[in-house]
Amino acid sequence: MPLQPLHPIPYGRQHITPEDVQAVTETLYSDYLTQGPKVGEFEEAFARYIGAKYAVAVSNGTAALHLCTLALGAQPSQRVITTPITFSASANCVRYCGGEVHFADIDPKTGLLDLQAVRQLLESHPRGHFHGLIPVDFAGLAIDMEAARQLADEFSLWIIEDACHAPGGFFTDSKGQEQRCGNGKFADLAIFSFHPVKHIATGEGGMITTNRPDLYADLLRLRTHGITKDPALMHRHDGGWYMEMQELGYNYRMPDMLCALGISQLTRADEGLARRRKLAARYDAAFATIPAVRPLAGVPGHAYHLYVIQVPNRKGLYDFLRERQIFAQVHYIPVHTMPYYQGLGWQLGDFPLAENYYAHCLSIPLFPTLTDAEQNYVVASIKEFVAR
Ligand SMILES: *Cc1c(COP(=O)(O)O)cnc(C)c1O
Repeated sequence: MPLQPLHPIPYGRQHITPEDVQAVTETLYSDYLTQGPKVGEFEEAFARYIGAKYAVAVSNGTAALHLCTLALGAQPSQRVITTPITFSASANCVRYCGGEVHFADIDPKTGLLDLQAVRQLLESHPRGHFHGLIPVDFAGLAIDMEAARQLADEFSLWIIEDACHAPGGFFTDSKGQEQRCGNGKFADLAIFSFHPVKHIATGEGGMITTNRPDLYADLLRLRTHGITKDPALMHRHDGGWYMEMQELGYNYRMPDMLCALGISQLTRADEGLARRRKLAARYDAAFATIPAVRPLAGVPGHAYHLYVIQVPNRKGLYDFLRERQIFAQVHYIPVHTMPYYQGLGWQLGDFPLAENYYAHCLSIPLFPTLTDAEQNYVVASIKEFVAR
């Protein structure tokens, strides 16, 4: 049994370097605290990294989802399908627009929304009943967005890809080509978060990526109160100060200081991703001989935001690890079992595969600065628990 580490080990953690601090400090002393040159720089660098045409920086991932549903015209009475195994925000954005959230069950091997289950749901209703689909690259595993697009086209749905877990992740398409999460080739819009536990950390922050110029223009307006300063789009020209608020938008801007941090963080994204994959491979090897510990399927292209295991006695293991200063976490409590969604009519038992997954899942520590020694301690602790 390795020695207990000096610090508690969380399930995820940001990595801030002196270069990050310098980037923020420089911006802090510049002319702009918000909406300076760093915003555009970050957007360009991020779009390049993801392989999308356009990127729009916003205040957080939830704001990104909200702007996406607005840009796609979600409205009361419209119905949108998502997965029960995600952070509530993936569903809430539909409610912000007054739309109805619907769910389909997951594939228990991957934890991802099961597109077969989505198809069954779509086919059991008249055409035009549903309007949108919000799949999630859960834990960093890319959903097959090509298949999702085919299904969406068949039923005239728009797609928002919630790629919060998967910057740098990819799936392999039917032509054998790697398609990065959020690259805009299949989904209309994709969103990312820069919350401290995500791959790229800016405190609060988010990004929307797309290849569609029409949506890009809408997002820019909606991000800043619905205001435009583009003379080509304005109804009149009163003078140099003039601008027009043309629709009801929000202040969902990401400040320059945080974009500077994001640019600096992005330069280390590949390094962090490689370390995550290495740590995941070490976990895979360690658990291969322990039948009581079942990791979710890992495939090439997995971005490993989370390393999820399933165990018979999840609560026991969670408590045992906490006593040993290992702070594992549960991702996720199924959204349809949240009191708010139960109030909308969803019930325990509606999505048995998601509920069964929830009963056994545990996200164990995985982040780029997790040391081999710390990981060995986590593995030894889990082995000790399951051997009892
Ligand atoms: C983190 C996260 C969000 C929300 O992002 P915030 O920046 O915290 O608002 C949405 N969806 C998923 C899957 C996430 O992990």
